[in-house]
Amino acid sequence: MVSLKSVSLIYTILFGIVVIVLFVTIAFRIYQGFISSSDRKPIKEINGNWFLKTLKILFGISMFMMIINIPFYGLIGSAVRSVVPNYLNNIMISAVILLAGIECFLTFSISTKLLEKTFKKVELSIAVLIMLPLSIYLAINISNMFDYPQTDKCYLIDLPVKGDWIAGHAGGSEQVNYHCAYEAQKFAIDIVKVDESGMFYKNEGKEIEDFYTLNENIYSPVDGIIVNVVDSFANQQVLNGSDKKNPAGNHIVIEIENERYLFLAHLNLGTIKVLKGDIVKAGDLIAQAGNSGNTTWPHLHMHIQDKPIIDNKNAKAFPFRFGKMDRKRWLGWTNVKDGFLVRNDLFRNS
Ligand SMILES: [Zn+2]
Repeated sequence: MVSLKSVSLIYTILFGIVVIVLFVTIAFRIYQGFISSSDRKPIKEINGNWFLKTLKILFGISMFMMIINIPFYGLIGSAVRSVVPNYLNNIMISAVILLAGIECFLTFSISTKLLEKTFKKVELSIAVLIMLPLSIYLAINISNMFDYPQTDKCYLIDLPVKGDWIAGHAGGSEQVNYHCAYEAQKFAIDIVKVDESGMFYKNEGKEIEDFYTLNENIYSPVDGIIVNVVDSFANQQVLNGSDKKNPAGNHIVIEIENERYLFLAHLNLGTIKVLKGDIVKAGDLIAQAGNSGNTTWPHLHMHIQDKPIIDNKNAKAFPFRFGKMDRKRWLGWTNVKDGFLVRNDLFRNS
């Protein structure tokens, strides 16, 4: 049986190797650009060579855009943050910013090697051809990460959980939410409970009991009528054995209004406290979280759609926001009214 800790170790080693390569490159560029800098000339003192100068400036622009891009993709967009230690992720982000900053600075001078050697010019041309479109593409897509329908187009609901949680997949675009690839589950969220340090499992992460989400109380986020209850599937093993035939596993469907249904999925067998036909109020305890259905580890999936059964071909999803919550997206916690979640947001009841 695979443990999440061993998966995390593999990613940590890979990230560690990338970080080492980045710091070696940084040291090399500092040596080339600042220590043995006698062979560098300021770009404004070089006559002609317009093609080369243009290449240098374009590379500098792409590096400047990377400085802006990297915090967004490293902190918000990254889908592997759950398996990479935070400190390593932060070191990687800092290293990329430092390297891009050095390259921006070195844009203002040209080494004699670059002026004289053809292969150096080819190297720079390739770097520009790769980095310029990539940095523009990433910059354009930053705003998509926070794309979400305005409050008047959203259902305003309560958080379905208590305590500290983190969003694994959430938001209105595929950059931050894989569910958005499917019209029926657009805006769906997958959330997991975390401890004070932000970790969502203990021990090896091998057993479902290692995950803080297991058996967490789930509260109805809305007033409504229970229109469907499925409570017949055992929990899946961690990272192994997702039930593709019954993707939602044990789940509850709450009718909010005509043709609008809220789904809470992957619940623990035997913990559902409501029956079909029951009327629930927002805040009512209705179940406990589990790992049934198509799921890699215990988490809660929630979305709103226009069909009372899972129907990925024909159903249409609807956006929702939370009336009030405390949310940590960047450095500190803020009290948010009518807010939505995106990937890697920490949140709790306010
Ligand atoms: Zn999901």
